[in-house]
Amino acid sequence: MTKSGIGRRTLIGTAGLGVLAAPAIIHAQAFAQEKKPLAIDRVVPPDIHKFKLGGFQVLVVKDGARPSGAPGETFGLNQPPETLATLLSRNFLPTDQFVNSFAPTLIDTGSDVILFDTGLGKAARAQGGGRLIEGLAAAGYMPEDISIIVITHMHGDHIGGIMEDGKPAFPKARYVTGQAEYDFWTDAARAGTPAEGNQKAVLANVKPLADKMTFLKEGGEVVSGITAMLAPGHTPGMLIFNIESQGKRLVLTADTANHYVLSLQRPDWEVRFDMDKAQGAATRKKVFDMIATDKVAFLGYHMPFPAVGFVEKQEAGYRFVPKSYQFDI
Ligand SMILES: [Zn+2]
Repeated sequence: MTKSGIGRRTLIGTAGLGVLAAPAIIHAQAFAQEKKPLAIDRVVPPDIHKFKLGGFQVLVVKDGARPSGAPGETFGLNQPPETLATLLSRNFLPTDQFVNSFAPTLIDTGSDVILFDTGLGKAARAQGGGRLIEGLAAAGYMPEDISIIVITHMHGDHIGGIMEDGKPAFPKARYVTGQAEYDFWTDAARAGTPAEGNQKAVLANVKPLADKMTFLKEGGEVVSGITAMLAPGHTPGMLIFNIESQGKRLVLTADTANHYVLSLQRPDWEVRFDMDKAQGAATRKKVFDMIATDKVAFLGYHMPFPAVGFVEKQEAGYRFVPKSYQFDI
């Protein structure tokens, strides 16, 4: 890798990106390596949350949650540990450990049943994750009811549940994902780079579904009212979605921000999971500036369950305000 390659904001298609991709593999494999069952996820049935967005019914499922080690190993990589500790303490959070949770989301438009991301899947079930199908069932949705699966990006916690025992987990669904994201993970240039591990998962579980896949670019539509925006940085081709129905709006931000305090209050702090850290920070600020300015709700895959809230712009970043009854009245 050349020095200029490291500093470039857009590394799509260059061999250099493979070196930066190492954290993604750790991210994808970390859950499977976690052996300790998690007491907070032993609830039966799993946590689900429903609300109405105009004419759309939204269902958020808690696929799982896991203790994820010291916050400083993932967030604020470019900050002194004391700075992280101060911010965490000020927000009533422990400084030695954080919990990451996973929130795949179903949107029932009345004519389509659309699932955004598929959770950790079977590989994580023994450790208390991979509860998406169970959660959907608790709300009355069977796997064959899903008509469209949208994959925001191809990290393991988003594609882990797309197959079940080698067969499509949602047998009647077609698929929608980002063209740039698919191209990156299926490119032969990933072989022999740190991105290879995650690529193997994509080749085994996503590529076989390609003939049923629609590939979107910026501005592409999933269905009427659900529009893609390119949000690169976390991965090269991550898509986020503007969702509008009858004048109500929600932005599904996927992994643009991965922690409601550390990523939102300090969007510039480097995150281990962002494959291009500078681009990840730039995208984070662009997206959450828009959400703060427009005063609309967002749904973030790793936000505290039910993963929906608002942001208020502050001097250095954004204050997360969880949703309460805004959609009920
Ligand atoms: Zn994720």
